[in-house]
Amino acid sequence: MKLSLYISIAFLSLHLVQAQDIQVTLQPKTPLLAQQINGFSLHCDFLFENVSDKSFNLLAIWAWLYGPDNQCHAIKHLDASALAPSIATSPQRRASPRSTLLVFNPFYALTKDKQATRLVYEFSFADSTGHIELVRCEIRPKLYETKTHLQLPLSGRLLVYDGHDFYSHHRRIDFTHPVAKRLGLTQNASRYAYDFTLVDQQGKPYASNRNNIKEWYAYGKPVKAPASGWVIAVVDSVADNYIDKKGNVIQGGQLSLENPASFNGNYLIIDHQNGEYSLLAHLAKGTISVKPGQLVKTGQILGQVGFSGSTGNAVHLHFELRNTSHAWQAEGLPSSFILQRRKLFMDTGDIQSN
Ligand SMILES: [Zn+2]
Repeated sequence: MKLSLYISIAFLSLHLVQAQDIQVTLQPKTPLLAQQINGFSLHCDFLFENVSDKSFNLLAIWAWLYGPDNQCHAIKHLDASALAPSIATSPQRRASPRSTLLVFNPFYALTKDKQATRLVYEFSFADSTGHIELVRCEIRPKLYETKTHLQLPLSGRLLVYDGHDFYSHHRRIDFTHPVAKRLGLTQNASRYAYDFTLVDQQGKPYASNRNNIKEWYAYGKPVKAPASGWVIAVVDSVADNYIDKKGNVIQGGQLSLENPASFNGNYLIIDHQNGEYSLLAHLAKGTISVKPGQLVKTGQILGQVGFSGSTGNAVHLHFELRNTSHAWQAEGLPSSFILQRRKLFMDTGDIQSN
């Protein structure tokens, strides 16, 4: 008994020494559970810091899901087995000496029958000699219920052109990327964002020529306040982008790393006075009819859909709910919309992408 205890202590000490090579922090620090029809989504990232002079490769990720009864309800893993190993779905796996590595949480979909109040993750890193270092991380996610009663900011047949599922560009913010570092990004305000556009009965978002932004059904349509609140920021002077004959998007305004809000183009932020803020972005120049300090009511017309800022090649309205008005220090919040007294997710499905 004593011998095995000593061995355990020795093993634990060894493990603790090894674990100091790679440290992990969660982004955000308190991950949120967003409720969906069949369960929950857990959007968080793991930021690893390799504090050693060795190089490591991520070989496997394991997760144990514990329910309210503290029993393990599910075990998930990615590993290096087979000819096309599942760990390769995590695009960055190398932790270089004295550098950081961001890994998106691959186990983001949690079903209702496996309600997780606690998740224990274990990451296996191998150094050049094949030695394995295990890095463990525990998550106690918080179920988030949107406080603001939100209505959709556009009327008509709506498409979530891109949303916030695992594959959406709103989710793919790597804080270790040089651009993110220059911007000082440490949070993801668009973690639960939506890009809304309007479509016809066939689901097409433009009449015939997608490079003519005026042929997009959403272009110029009224943008309505998703909920009441105080307008606290407005930019309305950025020229629309256009698309040239080769399909390249030509910026109407300047995108500047020194001015991160420039990526929004024309935008406004509404403070709902409950810790939640709505950002509506990419509006058309000169169409925003409200000013900072003004109180707006749900459904009030604020401006028109445009094509300003970092739009990609699709005319859309970017909407996000966030926890502060600050450009890059905001963290995204889950949001659901109420339509004709019914919650959309109960009627038509989870709103994520496409
Ligand atoms: Zn967007």
